[in-house]
Amino acid sequence: MSYKKIIEEVYERVKNQEDTGRLATYIPELANVKAASFGVHVSTIKKEDFGFGDHLEKFSIQSISKVLTLSLAYTILGEDIWKRVDVEPSGTPFNSLLQLEADNGIPRNPFINAGAIVVADILMSNLKNPKEDFLQFVRSISNNSSINYNEKVAASEKSVGFRNIALCNFIKSFGNIHNNAEEVLDFYFNVCSLEMNCKELSDLFLFLANGGKNIQTGKQIVTKRQAKRLNAIMQTCGFYDEAGEFSFRVGLPGKSGVGGGIIAVHPDEFAIAVWSPRLNKKGNSYKGFSFLEEFTTVSKSSIF
Ligand code: GLN
Repeated sequence: MSYKKIIEEVYERVKNQEDTGRLATYIPELANVKAASFGVHVSTIKKEDFGFGDHLEKFSIQSISKVLTLSLAYTILGEDIWKRVDVEPSGTPFNSLLQLEADNGIPRNPFINAGAIVVADILMSNLKNPKEDFLQFVRSISNNSSINYNEKVAASEKSVGFRNIALCNFIKSFGNIHNNAEEVLDFYFNVCSLEMNCKELSDLFLFLANGGKNIQTGKQIVTKRQAKRLNAIMQTCGFYDEAGEFSFRVGLPGKSGVGGGIIAVHPDEFAIAVWSPRLNKKGNSYKGFSFLEEFTTVSKSSIF
């Protein structure tokens, strides 16, 4: 059976399931999205792509952006990046402060907030105009110059971002933030506010299904070895304290965001983006998770 048919069938089934999730209202602006939205889009390395439902509606990609900031920082620092951030699953919520003190300000991994704030600091030290240069990087990977930040979402998060302010200052006290904390956070909040629809997201992440190479231009965005490692970190750390559960139920490298998006990658085959804004207790899209579980089961496309 083709992916298209399977996706359509699973989409219809999951669409009608009861959704016990809740919107991420801790960022006030995210409370304004249509809670029942549900879209899915797949892009394959054979250059097929198709989607269903609200797959062409933009949403806030939030923590999915952590893979993109890491990708850029990795190309700049190479393996030295791991002196600033580790690659171990944290088993804690995305905004936890818990392990930082024992770990001397080295975040467990780049996909929890603490780690992504350190990665933002690395980019601040290495880019001339961090916001513009990072946006340019994202646009070049996706061959799409319309991708942008949502200033309203960034400002909304900034107005209530007390946890992230605490995280950044705490890490700085250990010497692992080199720039002005307020400026690092301003950059971090903007990066989280990036907006995309499911099609743009799955097109963009194809480089990680394609050994780090842009499928349209043939340009190597990250090296093959770096792509392998980025996928490995998505597999082990992409869902905070639910990373084991995602491996167990879905079996693909992936990354979620509190905007309700999930991206999952099947190396050498496809990238698939799902969006449904109601989140489970761990901050991951309730329906997105269910959809991907059923999809990899029916299509036998778990990597395990
Ligand atoms: N911007 C969000 C935050 O820092 C990102 C969290 C997420 O998507 N899990 O809280």
